[in-house]
Amino acid sequence: MTKKELKCTSCGKRVTNDPATVSFPCPKCGKTTVTRCKHCREKASRYKCTECGFEGPN
Ligand SMILES: [Zn+2]
Ligand SMILES: [Zn+2]
Repeated sequence: MTKKELKCTSCGKRVTNDPATVSFPCPKCGKTTVTRCKHCREKASRYKCTECGFEGPN
């Protein structure tokens, strides 16, 4: 099994071992996985899908 390194989509911080991090598929295209660290969730920082360009905190 390959160990995949997770990075926050909003701030780019490495979040591999952060249990407060959430990952979910892009709400629009579902092709990419959006990862958000605790910090960015609390601040409602924006993220952008690299595949379809969808932006949002939701
Ligand atoms: Zn972040
Ligand atoms: Zn997308």
